[in-house]
Amino acid sequence: MLKADLHCHSTISDGLLAPAQVAALAHAAGVELWALTDHDEVDGVAAARAAARRLGMGFVAGVEISVTWANHTVHIVGLQIDETDTALCNGLIKTRSGRDQRGREIGAQLAAAGIPGAYEGALKYVANPALLSRTHFARFLIEAGVATSVAEVFKRYLAEGKPGYVPHRWATLAEALGWIRAAGGVAVLAHPGRYPLDPVAEAALFDEFISLGGRAVEVVTGSHTPDQYATYAALARRYGLLASRGADFHGPGESRVDFAGLPPLPADLVPVWHDW
Ligand code: AMP
Ligand code: MN
Ligand code: MN
Ligand code: MN
Repeated sequence: MLKADLHCHSTISDGLLAPAQVAALAHAAGVELWALTDHDEVDGVAAARAAARRLGMGFVAGVEISVTWANHTVHIVGLQIDETDTALCNGLIKTRSGRDQRGREIGAQLAAAGIPGAYEGALKYVANPALLSRTHFARFLIEAGVATSVAEVFKRYLAEGKPGYVPHRWATLAEALGWIRAAGGVAVLAHPGRYPLDPVAEAALFDEFISLGGRAVEVVTGSHTPDQYATYAALARRYGLLASRGADFHGPGESRVDFAGLPPLPADLVPVWHDW
């Protein structure tokens, strides 16, 4: 099976490396078909495509859109998009707006919890001012000594219900799928194992995603545990969805797995890239 990795991040969102550096790491790990999927941003796609071309690696233009569904944050990856599409770009601008204000509120809440200067501290880690993310806060909080890993800092400060968590309204599921489809792309439900949904709510998410034209689900991803690979392989079969694979790489030492550490998709699933 082709070695495809279709989910990762650069400094254009909350990754640690520039698009060309991420391309080089993916290529060095043997990736043959690669997508950059920054959060709510396609500004890195041109540089990523050029780097992949220089390396002789297959390239897929991508994005990861933040969605609010049933009061939960859900991520939808768009693949094979035309990153210049006006509807998509305007939708992403709208989705990004509000990140700075949310960041100021996160800073205020952390200050109230005894950690001053987090907004300014997080901004030091931001390359793209339109994309202040909780990951940037996590890096600052580690620097400030309140935690030693990104996972720990989310658990204690940044996850839903914790002192630095500010609820936010992202795009709707219908908007995200509409923008991806307008841009000629394929919509992929990202890392479903990460959402705190009971089986009934999870089934409702899959049903709605499919009814809106969603075609694929991430099965093997750095954001799933190995147990969840099997769980979501079973759901891909049950719903007749194509399967996707990607490390969700953010940077060396920061992600659970890198491009080399991710197993292949179960052989009976139809990969999202089967007809590309
Ligand atoms: P944001 O879009 O600003 O709310 O940030 C979401 C990003 O935070 C995700 O894309 C991940 O990179 C990171 N993230 C969310 N939850 C966790 C977690 N539990 N552990 C590590 N990183 C996380
Ligand atoms: Mn991220
Ligand atoms: Mn995600
Ligand atoms: Mn991601």
